[in-house]
Amino acid sequence: MFRNPAIDHIQMETEYKTSAFVHSWQTVIFNDLTNRIVVGDEDDITLLKRLAESPKTLHDIASFSDIKRLDEKLKFFLLENLLVPVSQDEMLSFVPHRVDIETVRQCNARCQFCPQSVSPKSRGVMPLDLFSLALTRLEGTTPDWIAFNHYGEPLIDPFFRRRIELLRERKLPLALFTNGILMKDDVVDFLAAGGIKKIVFNFPSLEQTEWCELMQMPEQSYRKARHAIEFCLKTIRHLPEGIVISVNAVTDTQEMRAHKIKEHFMTFGEVQVRTVFSDSRAGSIQNNLVRINSHSGGQRYSGCDRIVSQLHISTEGKVYLCCQDYDQNVVLGDIRQESISSIMTGPLARQLRAEMYGLAPMESGRICLNCHALRQTRFLDQ
Ligand code: SF4
Ligand code: SF4
Repeated sequence: MFRNPAIDHIQMETEYKTSAFVHSWQTVIFNDLTNRIVVGDEDDITLLKRLAESPKTLHDIASFSDIKRLDEKLKFFLLENLLVPVSQDEMLSFVPHRVDIETVRQCNARCQFCPQSVSPKSRGVMPLDLFSLALTRLEGTTPDWIAFNHYGEPLIDPFFRRRIELLRERKLPLALFTNGILMKDDVVDFLAAGGIKKIVFNFPSLEQTEWCELMQMPEQSYRKARHAIEFCLKTIRHLPEGIVISVNAVTDTQEMRAHKIKEHFMTFGEVQVRTVFSDSRAGSIQNNLVRINSHSGGQRYSGCDRIVSQLHISTEGKVYLCCQDYDQNVVLGDIRQESISSIMTGPLARQLRAEMYGLAPMESGRICLNCHALRQTRFLDQ
């Protein structure tokens, strides 16, 4: 699906362009397809901007006398697929770096900043044989991690442990996103046995009353979640990406809530505490705890990595657009019928990729037009 051109076969008369999947912030360069981030310099950005606007042959690029260490840069850019031949159809590209498998649909909480609080999902569990099929479909790929979520609480799942055993057999790491309420000590011990890349808890406040209000859950759930995080920090050490607490709900007190959470939990073990930009989930929830975005149709945008590097599979085996597609309305295919490669290079995936990456104007009505993740600027100076 994704090809790294061999430097040996480069033709000086072949025209090259900056890959559609490349963007930058100051001198930090991102490649959505390879999921690589490199720190460059101002000349790197000049070169990328120039070749994004106007592709050139290597022969012509060699005459750019204002770019220092040009040979070195070109070799690196080609190896990193920052530059690609103009003839390459990039809209066929897809690499699943992250995979969300919706193992259960429902959640036990009703967080005010989550669409589950206004339109709760009905019950639903992915059958084990379909889960195994999903893993078989992923053979030959090397995702950074698999998650068990699409707004469902993975610990509700009756097959939770069996699924992790299947991941372990295939050496696929799990990123566990949970509210922790159902994470009993024996579950923590099971997780400590391996195969976990990171654990991310949704825990918006250390204050019991505030937590109960934000999560819309009773006090005993607060106590269970808090104990689960404490026990987890004491028991599970050295995860590749650690144990994280996400502090949701965009309010004036968000930073202070995060500070208090950090102060408390750091006494139990190493923990990362992050304030989270709670957003409207592309318009699925609107209130004063979330940020709301909207863009205009008919314009050209600068990308969103979900469509080139992330895969989302529903409890029924449907491949849908992304984590922001709460109701899973944008269906790209079905793993029971087709391979992942075939789904993610199919006509709808290609069209959406082209619209998100500015090769075509975005059709009005697209979910992306309500989403904060849709980039408006490709090379950001600030
Ligand atoms: S934010 Fe997470 S824990 Fe809260 S309701 Fe949504 S899915 Fe459940
Ligand atoms: S822009 Fe938003 S809605 Fe569109 S694919 Fe990206 S994350 Fe999903």
